[in-house]
Amino acid sequence: MAESYTSVRGQAYAPGTSRLIAAELKRNGVEILLCDAAGEILTRGAPIDHETGPAGRDVLSFADGMRFETTDREGLRALGVIAQDGWLARLEGWHPRLALVVVVCVLGAIAIWRWGLDLLVSLAILATPAPLITSMDRGNMLMIDRTMAEDSGLSLERQAEVREIFTTLSAVAPEAPYGAYRLEFRAIDDMGPNAFALPGGTIVVTDALVEQFGDEDILAGVLGHEMAHISERHSLRQLYRSLSVYVLIGMMAGDVGPVLEDLILDGGVVLSLAYSRAHERVADDVGVRTAEAAGYDGTALAGFFEELDRRYGGIGPEWMSTHPDSAERAARIREMQ
Ligand SMILES: [Zn+2]
Repeated sequence: MAESYTSVRGQAYAPGTSRLIAAELKRNGVEILLCDAAGEILTRGAPIDHETGPAGRDVLSFADGMRFETTDREGLRALGVIAQDGWLARLEGWHPRLALVVVVCVLGAIAIWRWGLDLLVSLAILATPAPLITSMDRGNMLMIDRTMAEDSGLSLERQAEVREIFTTLSAVAPEAPYGAYRLEFRAIDDMGPNAFALPGGTIVVTDALVEQFGDEDILAGVLGHEMAHISERHSLRQLYRSLSVYVLIGMMAGDVGPVLEDLILDGGVVLSLAYSRAHERVADDVGVRTAEAAGYDGTALAGFFEELDRRYGGIGPEWMSTHPDSAERAARIREMQ
């Protein structure tokens, strides 16, 4: 019976030669081995091609060009290197290259499903005119000033000190994609000690942040972090991910459309988006590196997170809800050193 086969005898020839040598095809566990009469291994691995040669011989080709021919078709079936009779036999007609095409198509479909939206978002960002993105910042600032912010109560002197840190950082930070970084001070009671970035390059710092965390290393870490959200286009990505695929495809065709314009210029939308954890990690890393390149102590950001955690325990100001995992992030920042 077929089960009794452990090896198949036949003849092998190396690529580019016609000299036949006695050979044996064996299975060792899951591995197929082709050996010469002395038991030396000629090649290993499953054959990549099978054809039926003259006089009913079966010819197997291996990846390295080695070929093996035999008249023992039953033996090949028992070894599992060619298909069994019946419906499986039809698979013999399948060319390995066809199988490869099928595998590539399946992988392609998985890739589109897995990364298609990211790709669409990136293309839509490229297709968005820069002036539209800077006007997003203006729309947001108008909305913020109308609904939640008061003029900053910080002294001009204090503002100038923070602005100096900001200017030093801007010089070494990754380039802002839509014009220079801009710094705005506001008193926003609902936000506590906080800072946030708008996609076009505007960074808003609350009075409470400067008053409660006035240390220049902490401010440098926070500002560097917000610059990274801008340079990496994080809020644009989040905004565009929230749109439908049809709108994104329309944008790539150059049709920004009234729906999108409303959405982009209506300030509330950008503020309502939360960054993903992956975005926060990137912003922490880039922010710490930026602060250090400007001569500040990047690890101060870790202390800031721990202090926020201690004071607000994760349920306080917006920073905590949009910037989760303070303890874990603090640990990561310390590990960067
Ligand atoms: Zn952040």
